[in-house]
Amino acid sequence: MATEDNPLLPRERTDFNKLQKRLRRETGRAIADYNMIQDGDKVMVCLSGGKDSYTLLDMLRSLQLAAPVKFELVAVNLDQKQPGFPEHVLPEYLEQEGVAYHILERDTYSIVREKTPEGKTTCALCSRLRRGNLYGFAEEIGATKIALGHHRDDLVETLFLNMFYNGKMKAMPPKLRSDDGRNMVIRPLAYCREKDIARYAEYRRFPIIPCNLCGSQENLQRQAVKAMLQQWDRQFPGRIESIFAATQNIAPSQLADGRLFDFAGLEEGFSRAGPVQTHRLEVVNLFS
Ligand code: SF4
Repeated sequence: MATEDNPLLPRERTDFNKLQKRLRRETGRAIADYNMIQDGDKVMVCLSGGKDSYTLLDMLRSLQLAAPVKFELVAVNLDQKQPGFPEHVLPEYLEQEGVAYHILERDTYSIVREKTPEGKTTCALCSRLRRGNLYGFAEEIGATKIALGHHRDDLVETLFLNMFYNGKMKAMPPKLRSDDGRNMVIRPLAYCREKDIARYAEYRRFPIIPCNLCGSQENLQRQAVKAMLQQWDRQFPGRIESIFAATQNIAPSQLADGRLFDFAGLEEGFSRAGPVQTHRLEVVNLFS
């Protein structure tokens, strides 16, 4: 938020309030729709120092004050020992905000450098190691939920990345159990738009720590998909919302996956209640 030396103008204050309300409402709606947080949960909020995770923490803290369920929040940052990582930034921020936190120090940076061949992108291994360390730590501190800051645009980008490059129709779910079944991961910002989060983060003047201190570039394929979606968003407002809504409205019988719908067992002229019978009844009625 604006500082004492640099307060928000009245117009900015109104815009900030509206934005904050919208983000809070959308976060609350996602939590309720997917039953993300229950009474007694200890929610570990993964804080990278990026705009999304700061916003996530803000929204959860705000909902915690008003929610009918009681849950605990603890912020966790994984210091991956990237050169130039400003170690003091997150502890200072969290202490000033009065948030319980842990800083987990693991030199995944050296492992990534050592294992990734020259010229190859480092993000996949880096993310895997980060996930592994954070999931393990969640168990150590008895966290029942791990909250990540992915938003609606991330979910839609992932859907297209999987369709374009992996031949799969899958995105990032708002809630999932980790592969080994030991952690429950939630994405409370699943209904929030990135552009709202970016504007909110600017108003709040979060002390942002860039992800690319490692010197790596964000995955180029993701960048290309992001640019495509941003272009669509400008040209056809509402399209991102519509694509996301599509992930909540799946009709397996109108796709082609035989594991989700028994196309092989589908036979013509079936006699159970269905379109053919209804049609016959209508015909009888018309001619009687
Ligand atoms: S940009 Fe660097 S720190 Fe960020 S995910 Fe990629 S390798 Fe990891």
